[in-house]
Amino acid sequence: TQELHIIGGGMAGSEAAWQAANAGVQVVIHEMRPETGTFAHQTGNLAEMVCSNSFRSDDDEQNAVGLLHWEMRAAGGLIMSMADRHRLPAGGALAVDRELFSQAVTAALQDHPNVRVEAGEISALPETGTWIIATGPLTSEGLGAAIAAETGQDRLAFFDAIAPIVYADTIDMSKAWMQSRYDKGETEEERTAYLNCPMDRDQYEAFIDALLAADKTEFHEGETAGYFDGCLPIEVMAERGRETLRHGPMKPVGLTNPHQPEVKAHAVVQLRRDNALGTLYNIVGFQTKMKYGAQTEVFRMIPGLENAGFARLGGIHRNTFLNSPTLLDNQMRLRSRPHIRFAGQITGVEGYVESAAMGLLAGRLAAADIQGRTLPDLPQDTAMGALVHHITGGAEAKTFQPMNVNFGLFRPLDGIRGGRRGRKDRYKAYTDRAKEAWSEWLNAHQLDSVD
Ligand code: FAD
Repeated sequence: TQELHIIGGGMAGSEAAWQAANAGVQVVIHEMRPETGTFAHQTGNLAEMVCSNSFRSDDDEQNAVGLLHWEMRAAGGLIMSMADRHRLPAGGALAVDRELFSQAVTAALQDHPNVRVEAGEISALPETGTWIIATGPLTSEGLGAAIAAETGQDRLAFFDAIAPIVYADTIDMSKAWMQSRYDKGETEEERTAYLNCPMDRDQYEAFIDALLAADKTEFHEGETAGYFDGCLPIEVMAERGRETLRHGPMKPVGLTNPHQPEVKAHAVVQLRRDNALGTLYNIVGFQTKMKYGAQTEVFRMIPGLENAGFARLGGIHRNTFLNSPTLLDNQMRLRSRPHIRFAGQITGVEGYVESAAMGLLAGRLAAADIQGRTLPDLPQDTAMGALVHHITGGAEAKTFQPMNVNFGLFRPLDGIRGGRRGRKDRYKAYTDRAKEAWSEWLNAHQLDSVD
């Protein structure tokens, strides 16, 4: 029988492999790491998280990402089950120990009787067979060139940035304190998932000055075109206005400094636990393109971080993605070579969760192809369906940019559950509708229905 070949064992490739293998298909994952690395990946593990250790909100009633979590769990998703297993306390967010998480994904796939992992870079487009390309935002240059040659469209590159990671034992706890915003979280552990560093007005103003003056990595011409607003470098936020950070990642609300309970902080820098041991903390929202020397200098101006040691400094990175609305059909196949599917961030979704979700879908679709089945289109009212519909047709091709899942992608609600309701009710109605549609689709198209 025919094998499914997957290029790239990241979020999408790993999930695709799991889904297809569980459907009874033989899967080969081609992963270039550790032989060929990227500047962001640091291990040879599958499904390595290259920046934040968070899969974002786990609220499946009021949040579209949380809904995507729910849909993937319902489909037996590997990324979600390993994330749940290695979850760290982080209030309403699904944060994980990145090392244990990716080790667990790697082990699950290596131990799967239907999966083989082959090391090595693939740098040409396959001529025959059934393939999924899931090589992500840092697709190797050779393969990127081969894809560009085929699609006739230039790859579109843009940058976002890595937030720095601090060693916990170098944080001055006589100035910083543990508390999650508005004391969210059930357990003591959850409430202490965040560390806070307060600033008064003078410290804040000096910090903004330093951010603006710091040495930055230069952009090449045209490279800044694709910033996405969720991940703006901190210095770019500061450039937009001196108060922008105080209303963004440095907002002082919902927090009380136990060292000075009577003083209201002018701004607060938050750090989030980055590993299970609690030895590492990342500075929330502080992705940056400042040069390394400047970063240590500027970040050590933060009260509590004067002597901070950095496990990793922030960085900038490129994102490779297709103009999917013109290039892919609604089954995620390359129109010009339908034996090749794309999945993950390279299809123009953005984020670990969205990438894994597109992998889940591509894996199921490819498995069905090999087994001579055709899965009907996904219900558009699901998060999964809304996303894939957006990238393969819903989005404006001319201005196509990577997309996070959000309720804006969902079909509006009719009748009494529609527009006249409050936001909370509306979101609940979206997620109820999605869960029903997804459950129905999954039941009608069980993975093991053809074996
Ligand atoms: P990846 O997870 O990158 O997997 C692609 C895999 O393909 C890699 O393992 C790579 O080694 C392999 N590969 C590439 N080319 C080849 C080839 N030719 N042959 C064989 N193997 C190949 N998302 C978030 O949700 N939160 C974040 O904080 C975040 N920060 C990011 C920071 C950086 C620096 C970058 C680059 C991206 C960030 N992203 C973040 C986006 C994140 O990388 C993706 O959402 C997610 O990892 C994409 O999953 P993927 O499977 O498409 O790609």
